[in-house]
Amino acid sequence: MMLMINGKTKITGLIGDPVEHTISPHMHNAGFSYFNLNYVYVSFQVKKENLQAAIIGAKSLDIKGLNVTIPHKIDVMKFLDTIDTTAEHIGAVNTIKLDDEIKGFNTDGLGAIRAIEELSAVKNKKIVILGAGGASRAISFQAVLSKAGRVIIANRTIDKALKLTDNLKNNLDADAMAMGLGDKLKKELLDTDILINTTPIGMYPNINQKPLVTSDMMHEGLIVNDVIYNPLETELLKEAHKAGAKAISGIKMLIYQGIESFKIWTGREPPLKVFEDAIEEELNEIS
Ligand code: NAP
Repeated sequence: MMLMINGKTKITGLIGDPVEHTISPHMHNAGFSYFNLNYVYVSFQVKKENLQAAIIGAKSLDIKGLNVTIPHKIDVMKFLDTIDTTAEHIGAVNTIKLDDEIKGFNTDGLGAIRAIEELSAVKNKKIVILGAGGASRAISFQAVLSKAGRVIIANRTIDKALKLTDNLKNNLDADAMAMGLGDKLKKELLDTDILINTTPIGMYPNINQKPLVTSDMMHEGLIVNDVIYNPLETELLKEAHKAGAKAISGIKMLIYQGIESFKIWTGREPPLKVFEDAIEEELNEIS
């Protein structure tokens, strides 16, 4: 169904820089059509120096909700009235609801955990996360909040992994450990249940880059989630198939974080298939 824009249309959108390649408008507008809600989702390119003005302007224009992407996820927090506890732990916001107050949330971690939980609950599972940047922070905090067992952060720069595991232990009393990317990783993976890549290795245009973990380091019972969604099947996920492990594309995380944002703004949960079809349609158009 086509969206009909009129005097009562409520506006939601994305702020970031750049934003022109985002596929979020396709998902959210398909969700609004599905529920016959008079909302629209658009993208706004916002330069760093204009971030505060953008938030004040959004409130003045009665914009109902915003997603936040690179480079604003951390800086935007100082311009919000309140921040939900999970976002506070993560230290970054990807969703804003504008009401009487402006409240920030983070749905990235939940997006990844929901994608994994299509296959298996994370409760009591041993999880290894490659990378210690923004995506790793969001996913590791949510994993602990979802009652994961041991969480291991393996990162090129060990100090960053240590900082993250200290935060996980101090804030959530997590069973967390930091390590580098050397030989010990192979041993650690022997009894790991879930492996999540949050590094950009293998992302377009470097799609042939060798993954940090290869099939000889995996086992059949392992679930491998790559947060990269371009390409849909990364080299890491090909290695997972080779090992007989289960593979999850980053597109699922993108979809579920979007579903969680949609719920925050509208109180309704769009069916997974509505968002999946919208993305497939868009990707077919691009290719
Ligand atoms: P980030 O904050 O820059 O962190 C990147 C991490 O990857 C760092 O820990 C970095 O290690 C590591 N890394 C980068 N290049 C590496 C290399 N060549 N070898 C080893 N480690 C390397 O980035 P981010 O915001 O977490 O995003 C990471 C990825 O997640 C991006 O590809 C992004 O598109 C994707 N993502 C996907 C979704 C989704 O919805 N599917 C959502 C968010 C992000 P050092 O600490 O040593 O530098």
